[in-house]
Formats: sequence, C-alpha cells, structure tokens
Amino acid sequence: MKVAIMGAGLSGLACAITLERFGISPTIFEKRSRVGDRFVNGEAILPVLDRPINDAYAYLSENHGIFLQPIANISKMKFYSQNSRGVIDGHIGFTNIRGRDEESFESQLGRQVKTKIIFNSDFTYEQLLQDFTHVVMATGDAAYAMKVENFESDLTVTLKGATVEGNFNPHDVSIWLDNNIAPMGYGFLIPYSEKEAAITIGYPDYPNTQFIDFESPLDKFFDRVCKDINQSLRITDTFGVTRYIIGLCKYPRLGNTFFTGNCFGAMMPAFGFGQLESILTGIYAAHDLAGKGKYEELVKPLIQSYHESLVIRRAMEKLNNHKLDILVSFLNTRFAKQIITNRRYNPLKIASHLLRPMIKNSRPKVTQR
Ligand SMILES: Cc1cc2nc3c(=O)[nH]c(=O)nc-3n(C[C@H](O)[C@H](O)[C@H](O)COP(=O)(O)OP(=O)(O)OC[C@H]3O[C@@H](n4cnc5c(N)ncnc54)[C@H](O)[C@@H]3O)c2cc1C
Repeated sequence: MKVAIMGAGLSGLACAITLERFGISPTIFEKRSRVGDRFVNGEAILPVLDRPINDAYAYLSENHGIFLQPIANISKMKFYSQNSRGVIDGHIGFTNIRGRDEESFESQLGRQVKTKIIFNSDFTYEQLLQDFTHVVMATGDAAYAMKVENFESDLTVTLKGATVEGNFNPHDVSIWLDNNIAPMGYGFLIPYSEKEAAITIGYPDYPNTQFIDFESPLDKFFDRVCKDINQSLRITDTFGVTRYIIGLCKYPRLGNTFFTGNCFGAMMPAFGFGQLESILTGIYAAHDLAGKGKYEELVKPLIQSYHESLVIRRAMEKLNNHKLDILVSFLNTRFAKQIITNRRYNPLKIASHLLRPMIKNSRPKVTQR
C-alpha cells in the first residue's frame, strides 16, 4: 500500500500519525515550505459544539495517541449584541494557536509525525494518483472535491481578522452577535497570550450582507472591540479569507481517494469551527486504510453535526438585532449556563431539533459573481 497525503495541516498530519501507529508509512506532500506556514490565529475548541466529546484533548490523547496542548482553558465567555451583554462562566472550552508559531496545532502535530514531508510540492492530485495506491486529500479547502464534482456547497463566508496587542485575560473569550458588525455572522476575540489576541469576523456572502456602508468591516469591528473592552488595541497583522466554501462532500471516500478536513466538509456552518472535526477525519481515514473501520461509517456523526449546525446557521440568519439582543440576554440565565456547560446536554442537537421548523424552505442562495 502506498499512501499519499496531500496537505500537512490538521487532518493530513493526524492521518499520518495514525497511519504510523498502524505500521503504514505514508508520504506527505505540502505545498508550503514548512508546517503551519500561514497567518497566526487564535482559535478555540468548544465542547458545546462537539458533544458527546467533552474534552477534545483528553479524547484525542486517550483514544488516538494524538497529543495537543491548548493555550488556555476558557473560563468565561462574554457575548455582545447591539444593546445587550451576556456572560457565561464555567469550563467552556480551550483556546489554541494556529499558523507560524512553535506551539501552533500544526507545529505540535508536525513534531509527532515521523513521516518525511515533501515541502514546496506542486504535485497535482492526478499526478499523485498515478504513483500511489491511495490519496488522502487534506488541502484545507473544497477546490479538488469540487473539481471532481464531489462537493455540495451550502454557503460561502468572508472571514476577516487581525492580530491585536493589548492586555488580555487568556481565559476570557468574547463573541459579538450584531448585524451591524458582521451581518448574519459573528465576531470573535480569542487571546493567545496576555498581550496578543486574534479578532475575527465571519459573515455569509449573500446580496444583503454586502452592505453599501460596509467598506472596511474589520476597522468597524476593531473600533467596536476597543470600545466594548475599553482598551486602545494595536493591530499588528491582518488576514482575510474571501468566499470560503462551506459544504459537505457527497462521498467521503471516492474510489481510493479520501476527503478529509475541510475537503470533507469539516468546517461547521454555524460558527465556522472545524479543528476537531478535521483531526477526526484524518484519524478515520487512517483507520479505514489500516482495515480498522469504514471511513463512510466513521464520519456519519460528523455529517449529522454538520446538518445540525446548518440548521442553526439558517436560523441565525433570520435574527435581527432586536432578537439577537434577546438571545444574548438569555445567555445570562442559569438555564442557558446549564445547557452550555453541563456535559449531559447536546445543545447543537436540541437547538437544531427545535429550530428546524423555523427554517423550512428558507435557504438563501449563495451569491454568484
Ligand atoms: C479564520 C479562521 C478561523 C477559524 N477558527 C476556528 C476556531 O476557532 N475553531 C475551530 O474549531 N475551527 C476554526 N476554523 C476552522 C479550522 O481552522 C479548519 O476547519 C481546519 O484548520 C481545517 O483543517 P484541514 O486539515 O482541512 O486544513 P489545514 O489545517 O488548513 O491544512 C491544509 C494544508 O494543506 C496545504 N495545501 C493546500 N493546498 C495544497 C496542495 N495543492 N498540495 C499540497 N498541500 C496543500 C496547506 O498549505 C495546509 O498546510 C477557522 C478557520 C479560519 C479560516
């Protein structure tokens, strides 16, 4: 068996580590010159979106021999809407760093891989297919899956972000739900040290989200963050991802090709989270290759989560700022805290079940330009 992994990101590296554990030596092809050679970003893993897995770090190490360290545990999540504030305390999740940093997820996984990585690769999928018995597509986007007509897109999103300097509590994460800042979307502040944080907004690309007075959404968000946290932050770096395709591949495995990570559809539509899902798809592809399970079966719970997350996204898109104010106020209640922090509940499942009737026949079309 000769396995090529295309992409040394979360899913590709997780796949390689798992294959090595099963005695299979893949070859990794990475287009960049080193592992994690992309913008630095603070990201998070929230159990509320991943249940029944409550602690991704414990789960991955104990069940799959993949060892990751977070930056910090999240003990407070602050919510901001146009006129309301909400706070949830408790064990809410973990933050981590991505990209060009020694402690980024990619760097940590890269240190666990023994397989040689071929950097600066310009091999195409078609070329790899000629030389290898199996190809794991782990390139972090839907491009190849779309090329082989194996991807169904539900929406595209624009993500804009910056690294900011200021004074942060690494255990506090903030979320903005305000259509004036991110129409039908969200804004995040995720610290990755006491001095640095990532601020990011994400919103879907629909005709009515392309505001005329929305020329520099990141500047607008930055001003709002400074005001709400009462600090004069300084931007040191910016990044942007436009028309990022969110959807699911039709067949997780097509012949001898496995679609993992974002190529599979790991990025969840509601809030754009997909790190754990990406790592899991890499692990599951390796399980199939080693004869330990069927990829199509193993990814079924992730497909289910994707659909639940899509219901929540569609419902979110119907909320005006007044309703978002009500939602954020509700987050101050003990009931909301219970649902978010109590590991017995699966809020994604409950919310999608309750919201499904509300979103029937209301699927906005992806903007075509
Ligand atoms: C701005 C932003 C914020 C996010 N925030 C969060 C968050 O807070 N929490 C969360 O859970 N998720 C978050 N996500 C989603 C999460 O980061 C992704 O779902 C996850 O990284 C996808 O992993 P992957 O393995 O598919 O791709 P990646 O980890 O991106 O790896 C893809 C790799 O493939 C390489 N590559 C690309 N093309 C080729 C090619 N042709 N040949 C060889 N190599 C190639 C790339 O260079 C890269 O190394 C965020 C995403 C973005 C964009």
